[in-house]
Amino acid sequence: MSVRIPNHNGSFAERVLAWFDEHGRKHLPWQQDVTPYKVWVSEIMLQQTQVTTVIPYFERFMASFPSVFALASASQDEVLHHWTGLGYYARARNLHKAAKVLVDEYDGNFPTDIEAVIALPGIGRSTAGAILSLSRNQRHPILDGNVKRVLARYYAIEGWPGQKSVENALWEVAEKHTPETRCAHYTQVMMDLGAMVCTRSKPKCDACPLQSGCLAYAQGAQSAFPGKKPKKALPVKSTYMMVARFHQQVYLEQRPPTGIWGGLYGFLESTSVEEGVGALKLRGIQVESTHQLEGFRHTFSHFHLDITPVVAVIDLPPTKQVAELPSQWFVLNEPIEVGLAAPTQKIIKQLA
Ligand code: SF4
Repeated sequence: MSVRIPNHNGSFAERVLAWFDEHGRKHLPWQQDVTPYKVWVSEIMLQQTQVTTVIPYFERFMASFPSVFALASASQDEVLHHWTGLGYYARARNLHKAAKVLVDEYDGNFPTDIEAVIALPGIGRSTAGAILSLSRNQRHPILDGNVKRVLARYYAIEGWPGQKSVENALWEVAEKHTPETRCAHYTQVMMDLGAMVCTRSKPKCDACPLQSGCLAYAQGAQSAFPGKKPKKALPVKSTYMMVARFHQQVYLEQRPPTGIWGGLYGFLESTSVEEGVGALKLRGIQVESTHQLEGFRHTFSHFHLDITPVVAVIDLPPTKQVAELPSQWFVLNEPIEVGLAAPTQKIIKQLA
């Protein structure tokens, strides 16, 4: 996937860092006396969770487990207890497991090599980059949900970031813009921009340091990026709708009260023309000939229904009905005062 680079004044990083100096968050509890341990715990808590929710949890956690040694020697129940209400408990279990690894294999020190950090339980590439850049000012790009949104909009990168090609395109631009200096501030500001300015709905583009050069802004298409997860392909079903017709009259039956089109009037449905002709016969309707009309698709929330209307011509006047459900012969071009499903109406229009 190729990415068009917009023209702008001042590099991307310079603009966001200038914004950070003025507006960025600098007083969060894990930003005071920074250690990899504090940053790590905060980053794990912040996955799927807002900063304001995380702060009290973080403070209680640090009070009980002030070091990686304290965390490693705690019982899992104690750790989970401190997580109660934060959700996604696998995060807490992995944090606990990783603390044991750090104590056993690294003497309680946090590794400085990104691959070693990624190898710890519960830490992916973006979290590892965030921990090392925020706590050690190492140069690593990050790509959490907030950053994905900012970059997808800035470059108008189409597609769902869960797709590998889209994610790769986002990593590519994330990597490109990560500066050589002020790495910690840059990581922080990218998260801040996503959380405070380039928000999911109603982004504050007028307050955004990236406005000039932002392709989504230029197109007025902020909400189109990042692309949504593609919906699962709906299953396709098919049906024949038997339009028993005697001159200008057509035969409709009321559908059962529950289920699709419950209580509405519609044409008799069947899986084949022969079966439909047979079903009409059971209702006392003798079909002389049939011909198909143009088929069409009707889409429900959970499946597509391909409909083939079949006109079943009746030569003799309709006789008494034996259908179990209420049924009626309706005159085309006269108002039909019963409920009709959209496909029934469509077919009636084709006939009139
Ligand atoms: S200009 Fe608007 S859409 Fe573009 S990055 Fe800034 S806040 Fe997001």
